[in-house]
Amino acid sequence: MTLPTYEVYAIKYAERATSSHGTFIFKDLHDAPMDMDYFVWAISGGGKTYVVDLGFDRRYERGSRHLLRSPAEGLDLLGVNPAEVEEVIVTHMHYDHAGSMPDFPQAKFHIQEDEMAFATGRHLKHRAFRYGNFVEYTVDFVRAVYDDRVLFTNGEGEIAPGITVHRVGGHTHGMQIVRVWTRDGWLVLASDAVHMYANMEQQNPYPAAYNVYEMLEGARTAVKLADGNAAKVIPGHDPLKRERFSAPTGKLDGIVVRLD
Ligand SMILES: [Zn+2]
Repeated sequence: MTLPTYEVYAIKYAERATSSHGTFIFKDLHDAPMDMDYFVWAISGGGKTYVVDLGFDRRYERGSRHLLRSPAEGLDLLGVNPAEVEEVIVTHMHYDHAGSMPDFPQAKFHIQEDEMAFATGRHLKHRAFRYGNFVEYTVDFVRAVYDDRVLFTNGEGEIAPGITVHRVGGHTHGMQIVRVWTRDGWLVLASDAVHMYANMEQQNPYPAAYNVYEMLEGARTAVKLADGNAAKVIPGHDPLKRERFSAPTGKLDGIVVRLD
């Protein structure tokens, strides 16, 4: 079977100044400043656009996290009308991936069963686990379940021919990554299974982890799904992504990069 090929874009919507101590579970003596970018992703092909993650919106903005544009505004710049998007893959339910649902009124949301259970269950009685979640966004998801707008996957699932999701856990219990068929072979949107290229290259994961073993294995799974090519694994928050790939048009420079 020939698979349709998709174009894949990363859209930056926020940024934050952080440090290496905030980025790696095993700390170096020296704490160096690091930047963190926040993205949503768009997968276009066959006359349809699939969005990966919802980012966060103005309901959450706080602290050092600087919202540059809403994820919907970012998609709009790329020519994708968020009001017409029909399918959104949500990699996990942390605030910076599960926010702006009201901006996608027509969409259904693909999520792992384990993630919804994790974000609404007993683990969240611990502050360490709910730190990454925002209750308003979780409530949006509960309402969406009642409105028949949440589609659950348990493990591995096909969203469309050439777009599959894979539960890896680790960062959160139901963290999933997305594999996409492109003109240049398989590409893996790892989201927070791999925050930064360096987390993967140094086998030193991001400190926010539900299960460190699964997090290490998840990074390996991402590479395996990219046919063994780590360059085809796209991390969730690395500003380097903007250096390794280019904007589809000059107008989108610094905002959107094409990943395939
Ligand atoms: Zn994140």
